Amino acid sequence: MKITAFAGAAALALALAAPASAQQKFVTIGTGGVTGVYYAVGGAICRLLNKDRATTKIRCSTESTGGSVFNVNAIKSGDQEFGMSQSDVQFNAVKGLGQFKDAGPVADLRAVFSVHPEPFTVLARKEAGVTKFEDFKGKRFNIGNPGSGTRASMEELLTELGWKTTDFSLASELKADEQGTALCDNKIDGFFYGVGHPSAAIQDPTTGCGAKLVPLEGPAIDKLVAEKPYFSKATIPGGMYSANPNPTSTYGVVSVLLTSAKVPDDVVYLLTKAVFDNFDEFKKLHPAFANLDPQAMIKNGLSAPLHTGAVKYYKEKGWM
Ligand code: GLU
Repeated sequence: MKITAFAGAAALALALAAPASAQQKFVTIGTGGVTGVYYAVGGAICRLLNKDRATTKIRCSTESTGGSVFNVNAIKSGDQEFGMSQSDVQFNAVKGLGQFKDAGPVADLRAVFSVHPEPFTVLARKEAGVTKFEDFKGKRFNIGNPGSGTRASMEELLTELGWKTTDFSLASELKADEQGTALCDNKIDGFFYGVGHPSAAIQDPTTGCGAKLVPLEGPAIDKLVAEKPYFSKATIPGGMYSANPNPTSTYGVVSVLLTSAKVPDDVVYLLTKAVFDNFDEFKKLHPAFANLDPQAMIKNGLSAPLHTGAVKYYKEKGWM
């Protein structure tokens, strides 16, 4: 008897609570490894969006994931409302190329804004005797985990160079958070990572074991940059990381916040507003955001159509 009465009371309490919780919307932003920059982007966006959650009824949370390709697929399936991606992966998703060739174009994919540049970053063990990418032939190299944008871009580079993964003595698939430790522990000789700067993922092995940045340049890269709309040349500034006083020439992409056309306009509008209404605060949340400019963020690197909720905010601001 007692139990039934208690259960009844609990059910009543639940029923009373239902109207409020039914209005709560939960949104998830898929990011990358915790030592990368996507994780910081997601954290910064959620922090600003959650400030107003009493009025917006939106609760934002981030998830550490395998990276760009994983995030696009999670947006497509509805598992994540938002996700970070490299601009090259976004391009392939929109057109049904590369990793999306079999499944076809992700028609509902929408862009919100682009964020920081992601120069492709190659790091070598100090003792590996490597000064250029070609020196990794026959050595142990981390090509990135499946699902990462890093891995997708690495494969495109290998194809352009005419290399196969068997040109390395070991082509490991460690996740971004694991490769710095593996490098300093002499498990691999180098790795490739598409990431913003500065990032803990590069800071740790450069300070921990004096790892060296390796340039990505030469005819194959010139050709990629000339042919692919999403690539541009980039430089990692000298002195940004210890043991690396000189600038490093490379090429890269930009990062993009993506969502789905199925995510309601008001949710995307409020997220966009939270970021740009608090832009000075946003920029202070990670050093990789220091040079961001809103005008560039709503234009550069976007190949998916802008979400209509974001467009509403940009029009209100007179930016479009
Ligand atoms: N660009 C990387 C990827 O998609 C992730 C970088 C990051 O987590 O900051 O593989």
